Amino acid sequence: MFLIQNILIDERIVSGNFVCETNKCKGACCTLRGGGGAPLLESEVPLIDKSLPFVLPYLNKQSQTILEHEGYTLKGDDNSLEINCIDNKDCVFVFYENEIAKCSLEKVYNEGKSHFKKPLSCHLFPIRVRNFGGDFLSFEPFDECKPASEYGNALNVTIRDFLKEPLIRLYGNDWYEKLQEYAQQAATSEGEVL
Ligand code: SF4
Repeated sequence: MFLIQNILIDERIVSGNFVCETNKCKGACCTLRGGGGAPLLESEVPLIDKSLPFVLPYLNKQSQTILEHEGYTLKGDDNSLEINCIDNKDCVFVFYENEIAKCSLEKVYNEGKSHFKKPLSCHLFPIRVRNFGGDFLSFEPFDECKPASEYGNALNVTIRDFLKEPLIRLYGNDWYEKLQEYAQQAATSEGEVL
């Protein structure tokens, strides 16, 4: 682990490779049974509210009914917000394309109908933001993500590069540049040792 501007970081985020391969995992992170829904920030609620009219046509009847009667937010154990799920499995915003689970929020964002891509926690996954008195970025892939590590190795794309956009969304460009500098220094000193 190492620190960049008081953010504690799992070394694997710098050293490991990763590129999602959804034709193999089938979008498993949106449909895993148990464990609660994706963490949601209070500030994201009004942004999702604006996307709702556009996502509804992509959702199945069950999701539409849940959204109408329960809404999409749940309170987690520590009173934090989570996104509601169907039968403790699929995220309520999931739709399927060729049997791959996809995010309807991202779909309407990509279509230019909204300005909100998806919750930060989903955008960052498999990086999780844990709290150890400050932020700790932890790399926590599911078993279903294994092909993504292999694909990342094949393409030689690091976790920090693959998740550049959400990392900048979270901490900004300057912080991300510092992360890159750390990675380059680590790679250089590793080369020197060898
Ligand atoms: S994070 Fe893992 S489960 Fe989710 S899309 Fe990527 S490889 Fe698949």
